[in-house]
Amino acid sequence: MLEKSGKNTKSKMPELPEVHTITQDLKKNILDFEIKNIKIYPNYKIPSDVKKKLISLYGKKIQNVDRIAKNIVIEISKDLFLVFHLAMTGRILLRQEGDKTDSWVKIVFEIEKNGDKKYLKFCDMRQFGKIQVLNKKELELLENKYGISVLDSEITPDKFLEALKSKKTNIKNALLDQKIVSGLGNIYATDALFLANINPKTSTQNLNTNMTEKLLKSSREILNEGIKNRGSTLPDKMYVDIFGKGGNQQNYFKIYGKKVCPVCNSKVEFEKINGRGTYFCPTCQPDIAKDFSAKKSKVETNKISEQKKLL
Ligand SMILES: [Zn+2]
Repeated sequence: MLEKSGKNTKSKMPELPEVHTITQDLKKNILDFEIKNIKIYPNYKIPSDVKKKLISLYGKKIQNVDRIAKNIVIEISKDLFLVFHLAMTGRILLRQEGDKTDSWVKIVFEIEKNGDKKYLKFCDMRQFGKIQVLNKKELELLENKYGISVLDSEITPDKFLEALKSKKTNIKNALLDQKIVSGLGNIYATDALFLANINPKTSTQNLNTNMTEKLLKSSREILNEGIKNRGSTLPDKMYVDIFGKGGNQQNYFKIYGKKVCPVCNSKVEFEKINGRGTYFCPTCQPDIAKDFSAKKSKVETNKISEQKKLL
C-alpha cells in the first residue's frame, strides 16, 4: 500500500526524474518563444524585487531550458535566467488558448512564436515553491549549493564514499541531503538502498567502497528508470508533467509502498527516518551495526564463559 495522502507529504516532492521530465519537455516545446505577458495572481505572495525582475523578461525569447539539481532553469540570455523550484506541490503546465482551467495557478507566462500562443503556468497549492530571476553569477552560486549528482559519470564509488562520509548521519538521511547528493528524494533513495542491499539506518561512517559501488549503480539505475517512465505519480496525483499527465514509475517501485519484499517475501518494515517514511526489507537489507554488536556480544559472552572455565 502506498503512503496515505497527508501521512507524509514530504514524499510527494518532485524528485530528479520528475524535474528532468519537465525540463526536457519544456526544451522541446518552448524554445524561441517570446515572453509577451506575465500575469501574477493576486493571491500569490511574491517578493517585490522578484516582481520587478520578472518585468525585465518582457519581449525576450527563451533560449534554452536546463536543470540544476531540482531547479528548472529557463535561459533568457547568457546573463538572465528564470528559475523554478517546485518544492512539494508546485507544477509547471503548458497550455494552449482555450484549454481547461487549472488549479492553484500563481503566475502565467504568455509566450508566442510565429503566431502560436501558449501559456506557461506556474501552479502551487501549498506555495512552498520558488520563482527566481537570476544573473549568471547568482546562478553559479545556486549551483554551488548542491552536492554531487549520481548521474554525473565522473562520480566514482570512492568520490561517492567521500561525499557520504562527510556527514555523520545515517545513509538515508545523507542521500536526501541536497548539499551532499543532489536530486535523490525519498522514493528513489528508498528504492536505490533496497537494490543495493543497504539498510537505510546504516551510519555513513560504516560504509565502504563495495557498498558505495553498489549504491552508485543502483541509484543510477533507479533514476534512469524513473526518467524513462516519466517520473512517479502517487495516488494524490500531485505530480503531473507539463501536459497534465502523470508518470509511470509508481508501477515499478522496488520496495517503496510495498508490504511484502518482492525478492524474499519477508514482511517489509516501515519506519520514519528523520521524519521521512522509509520502507526496507530486514532480510535483504540487514542492519550491519546490529549484526556487528550481536557478534561482539557473542564474542564477549564466549570470553566470559572461557574465563569461567579457567576459574
Ligand atoms: Zn527481502
